[in-house]
Amino acid sequence: MFATAFLDLPPLQGASGTVTLPGSKSISNRVLLLSALCQGTTVVHDLLDSDDTRVMLAALRQLGCGVHADGSTVTITGLGGQHAHHDAIEFFMGNAGTAMRPLTAALSVLGGDFTLKGVPRMHERPIGDLVDALRELGCHIDYLGNTGFPPLRIGQPKLKLDAPIPVRGDVSSQFLTALLMALPLAAQDRSITIEVIGELISKPYIEITLNLLERYGIAVERHGWQRFVIPAGSRYQSPGTIHVEADASSASYFIALGAIAQGDGIRINGVGADSIQGDIRFVEAATQMGAQVTSGPNWLAIRRGAWPLKGITLDCNHIPDAAMTLAVMALYADGPTLLRNIASWRVKETDRIVAMAAECRKLGATVEEGPDWLRIHPLPKGQWQAASIHTYDDHRVAMCFSLAAFNADQIPVRIEDPKCVAKTFPDYFEALFSVAHANTLDIPVICIDGPTASGKGTLASRVAAQLGYHYLDSGALYRVTAHAALQAGLTLEAADETRIADLARQLPVHFEGDQVLLGGVDVTDAIRSEQGGMNASKVSVLPAVREALVQLQHSFRRLPGLLADGRDMGTVIFPNAPLKVFLTANAAQRAERRHKQLISKGFSANIDALRADLEARDARDMSRSVAPLRPAQDALQLDNSSLTIEASVEQVMVWWQSRQVFG
Ligand code: C5P
Repeated sequence: MFATAFLDLPPLQGASGTVTLPGSKSISNRVLLLSALCQGTTVVHDLLDSDDTRVMLAALRQLGCGVHADGSTVTITGLGGQHAHHDAIEFFMGNAGTAMRPLTAALSVLGGDFTLKGVPRMHERPIGDLVDALRELGCHIDYLGNTGFPPLRIGQPKLKLDAPIPVRGDVSSQFLTALLMALPLAAQDRSITIEVIGELISKPYIEITLNLLERYGIAVERHGWQRFVIPAGSRYQSPGTIHVEADASSASYFIALGAIAQGDGIRINGVGADSIQGDIRFVEAATQMGAQVTSGPNWLAIRRGAWPLKGITLDCNHIPDAAMTLAVMALYADGPTLLRNIASWRVKETDRIVAMAAECRKLGATVEEGPDWLRIHPLPKGQWQAASIHTYDDHRVAMCFSLAAFNADQIPVRIEDPKCVAKTFPDYFEALFSVAHANTLDIPVICIDGPTASGKGTLASRVAAQLGYHYLDSGALYRVTAHAALQAGLTLEAADETRIADLARQLPVHFEGDQVLLGGVDVTDAIRSEQGGMNASKVSVLPAVREALVQLQHSFRRLPGLLADGRDMGTVIFPNAPLKVFLTANAAQRAERRHKQLISKGFSANIDALRADLEARDARDMSRSVAPLRPAQDALQLDNSSLTIEASVEQVMVWWQSRQVFG
């Protein structure tokens, strides 16, 4: 997951390959609650790990359910209709609508002393229609803040089940879902009827609910979309084992990607055309716009068809979430796209009509909006503008706008707060980067070169963490090469140059966080010693060894970008890097830092000897014939002798930002 303040996407050229999608949020949280309400144990496979499911799991634990998680498999031992204890419980719901609504209903029917709270945005999301329906039923619910909104306090119900229970269907289908999942708890000796007032929106989500209820032994009778009857004698029964389908709305970004990007097409695993999720019908909309889609059980394959895409007019009531993706596809169309019947966007994570319109405009598009519609005009070549996309703590906004990086003007796109995708798809950007490709020269590299112990490694890895970029510690490659050469019984002299170079070319080296693995063996401590540094310095003067390591170093230049530290990053390896920093510090400072570093790792060290070593190593690095240590002509010098690491990071970030197009 990218936990950075922003993520810059370089201009993307194409995409090919396979993505496996995480489990659906809607299905995951329904399955968790249903498993909690039944008797016995349910093994849930492929559960989504996200903010919403974590909120739900935490609540179920608080209620006294058995919850055992093992990767994406979670075993739930249900309450069997009773909650285990009667103490007051306070639940924190974050911004998880898929936990808040159904839990409110289930807890109100179960009865107890429960408080449900969330983040400030949750307290602005309406719940009054559900509360009204539950009160009608005899549930005891009080508003702790504004009437009609969380937080809520729930007490003991006096259930009245004879008359049909009315619930509004035109604000959020989650109200009806919540009732459908809660009422079987009260339907032991009588049938219960729910009546929908107003036109029911998001019917496909109700179909998911009915489908899953059936898996848990509840056969709801549906009379049109107006009346639902839970038969007398209904009782939750665990299906034993259940698999969560991948999220069809998450699939929409990759379906769109396949339609927009040049390449061999995209294959999506985890969800197919036979999905129980309504958002799978996004496939039809994407096809209408030009995508070529084929599918089988549990997979979809998408290729670019019509190009530019075709502008469409669509009633989006059946695909409310996935339809947001159409708004960004519309930028690549041959005419305007009108998305109708999307009033529900206004009460989601943010007001999505406002958000999509504002961010499309930032990119340069003309957008018109109404109470329940949005018309997006295409953005031709020459009119795209560099934009820093605000994401409103809304995962779908962030994912949608990543698709803007395919723009014809080859402009990078900045996505603010990229971690908001965690709500449904924590590794969305990783999945995107695994299939999308950019021109190598468009993938940014920041070089930090300088003498030993100048603090390059710390600086480079901190800047990498702030930008979400990869990190190359090129010194480690020379250190590992020397280590491997000694292990192979070679000397580190010119006599063995060819053989050391052969070793270097096939170095089985892996970086895992701070650890360096050689052929699966952890060699971190062995190569980090002073002797390791001296040995590296010896092999690094051998031209064939340097040449052998070039390709490996280039292979670190991957999306979304790279921080590279060493001696010749800016001069030899990445001469076209958009930012080069030459980091120095005086020898006394560097000896002191290295001393501290070694002591903290439990090595013994002597400052004077260290300083002599450093100076000897610098002298060799600067005087060698190939790639000597010197600043690139266009490098910015940073003497950090009297700077804190934070100040150095800040300086590099300022230089970097000043070279970006985002203003
Ligand atoms: O940066 P570090 O101290 O780990 O590097 C160890 C040695 O590897 C350096 O003293 C230098 O001789 C060599 N090196 C190099 N070119 C690089 C990185 C390191 O020659 N890009």
